[in-house]
Order: sequence, then C-alpha cells, then structure tokens
Amino acid sequence: MRKKYAAGNWKMNKTFEEGQILLSEVVNMVNDEMNNPNVHVILGVPFPYLSSFTKLVNSSKVSIAAQNCHPKPSGAYTGEVSVQMLKSVGVKYVIIGHSERREYFGESDAFIAEKVDAILAEGLTPIFCCGETLAQREAGIHFDFVCGQLTNSLFHLSAEALQKVVIAYEPIWAIGTGVTASSAQAQEMHKILRDHLASKYGQTVADEISILYGGSVGAGNAVELFSQPDVDGGLVGGASLKSRDFTDISKSFP
Ligand code: 13P
Repeated sequence: MRKKYAAGNWKMNKTFEEGQILLSEVVNMVNDEMNNPNVHVILGVPFPYLSSFTKLVNSSKVSIAAQNCHPKPSGAYTGEVSVQMLKSVGVKYVIIGHSERREYFGESDAFIAEKVDAILAEGLTPIFCCGETLAQREAGIHFDFVCGQLTNSLFHLSAEALQKVVIAYEPIWAIGTGVTASSAQAQEMHKILRDHLASKYGQTVADEISILYGGSVGAGNAVELFSQPDVDGGLVGGASLKSRDFTDISKSFP
C-alpha cells in the first residue's frame, strides 16, 4: 500500500515563538487523535527553526521538512543551505521545486534535478513539487507541461531512487487562492502523472510513488480529495498554519 502524507508548508510565516506554539499544538493533537500508521504527518518550517523543531518532534508522530536546499554539499554559496547541513540537524524531508521558488527565484527543472540528487545522496526524502499555470491549463497544455517537469527533473533517476521521491502536484492557480482543483481535476492529473511514471519505470514502480495534491487544501475539502484513488495526501499551505485545521486534514484519509 502506498504511503499517505499530510504535509504542511508554513512558507515564510510565523516567528520562532509563534511557530513553537503551533508546532506543539499540532504534535499534541496528532499524537492524541491520529491512529493511522500509514499516514505520515510533516511540517515544512523556516530554516532557523529546523534544529530546534526536529528535537521538539522527537518521538512524536510528526516529522520536520525544510522548504528548500542547495544542491552543493558546501562552499562559497552565501546565504544557501546544503542537504548535509539539513541532515546534521535531523531533517528528514526537503520540499523542492515549489512554484514560488520557480517563479520568484528562477529555479529551473535542471537545478531542481540537482537538488533531487543531493537529497537522495544524503538519504533524505525529496518532496518534489510540480504544477501548471492557469494560462497553461486554459491552453490545454497542462498535462504535457507537468509530465515534462517530471521528465526533466526525475527521469534520470534509477527506479530504486525514484521510489524514494514524493511528488506534490500543485496547480499554481489553486495555490493561496481559495480555488481548489476539483477532486476530479486532481484525480485526472494524478492518474496522468502516474501513467507517465509507468511509461518509463513500469506500473509496479509507478504504483509505489505517493503523489500529493496541493492548492487550497482545507479541512472542508480534504476528505473528498484524499478519497481519490491516485491522490495520496496533501501539501498544505495556509491551513497548515492552524493546528485544528491541519490536524483535521491529517485525519481525512479513507
Ligand atoms: P495553500 O494551501 O495556501 O493554497 O498553499 C499550497 C502550497 O503552496 C503548499 O505548498
């Protein structure tokens, strides 16, 4: 059975103190209320909090993710953070290729492919984001575009390596807008992405890859989204800043 994920992405929100309160609320609620061992609960938090927060979640049901990394192990890259550094403070997951990083920081598919390799080389799990703009969807090129993102950043991997990647489909028009993809739209894209993975790696491998949906996931729509056969959970922005909502989302799996 594929692993299921409720992953929060705090983005650039919360001071350290606010974050500590939010994290401890989530840890307490998830520990008390969650009893599905196949669901992995993750929070992607700002870099300065990682070292402290990985200790706070120790022996809880919550894991900590970074929201970015640099592909080089060390060197003259002022302001950047390597995967080795993340690993050294206990981080297990790294979100990469988020549309905000692609758009505001000019990250290319090739650069994101380097990050995938660096994360896997250190034994961490990449949460690889992909997704189309509204204009691409309206032009009818969204399936080809998102499949292309997978091809460009993941298809150099061996089957064994690919199986360690978590994919997050986040249509850009649904991020932070309150406009969620319908469960049918999410399922349609997830199935196409899984078929695309199968075309290169075979169905057995493709069936093992978790594909999360992101874009205005909330406590009110998670049950329907997560009940789709190819939707293996969510990457949650705004609603992950509210402990009750995020815990409820984590409990929304069939
Ligand atoms: P929202 O849930 O706020 O739409 O953000 C989604 C997202 O970008 C998660 O990475």
